Amino acid sequence: MLEINGVTRRFGKTVAVNSVNLQIAEGEMVGVIGRSGAGKSTLLRMINRLVDTSEGAITFNDVVVTGLKGTALRRWNRDCAMIFQQFNLVPRLDVLTNVLLGRLNHRSTVKNLLGIYSREERIRSIAALERLDIAHTALQPAGTLSGGQQQRVAIARALMQEPKVILADEPIASLDPLNAKVVMDSLADINRREGITVITNLHTLDTARHYCSRIIGMAKGEVVFDGPPIALTANA
Ligand code: ADP
Ligand code: ADP
Repeated sequence: MLEINGVTRRFGKTVAVNSVNLQIAEGEMVGVIGRSGAGKSTLLRMINRLVDTSEGAITFNDVVVTGLKGTALRRWNRDCAMIFQQFNLVPRLDVLTNVLLGRLNHRSTVKNLLGIYSREERIRSIAALERLDIAHTALQPAGTLSGGQQQRVAIARALMQEPKVILADEPIASLDPLNAKVVMDSLADINRREGITVITNLHTLDTARHYCSRIIGMAKGEVVFDGPPIALTANA
């Protein structure tokens, strides 16, 4: 269970997120929608600690993630994987190495610096790429792939973290409709088969309706809707 209790984030005078309270159960597939500037991205970034909260607390299975430091924060960064609109791969490195980077927080600094990966980690990375239908790209520099392929690499990297939660910040906003479908289908499949909680910001309501069991609507930093897609249709 992920609990967001009275969370606020200010940037100077801007209140990006204002007193948000949410409870998200394990295995949910949640779509967060709202206009640009509504606070969606800041909310996700506070969950994975890329952004600090100004007020309030976020807990995951009773661990206060907003207070974590050092090793405990590293552990949270394994449990909580992030997918970005712009993929955030290392473009010069090959695809397989990018996927192995999902192991960063599982390994010692020395192993990371030397780039030493076990046979098992390599085999599992290739299996993750196969699952996403891009194993044939394993040895290409990630930056040479199409946007849709790059986002699939990012999903494979997230899977290598063995996360409990995947946060996706506008994962399909840079993709054409066909690739958008492949990426959303993959996230839904991971949610269904592994039971990993998925929370994804989306800018189109139709996508959220189609894929998510729960939709959270945000406006001006506040939650203005929270319910199943069918309730939204009734209100709209
Ligand atoms: P989005 O597509 O989520 O609306 P933005 O273009 O608003 O993205 O933000 C892109 C990046 O710039 C984010 O990392 C965000 O935190 C940062 N950012 C957004 N607004 C500001 C601002 N007024 N001042 C400084 N950084 C900002
Ligand atoms: P969304 O993801 O819904 O587009 P954001 O969370 O990116 O919304 O932004 C919410 C508000 O916070 C916006 O007004 C944005 O400009 C502001 N903001 C976000 N990040 C920063 C930042 N790093 N510095 C200053 N303002 C920011």
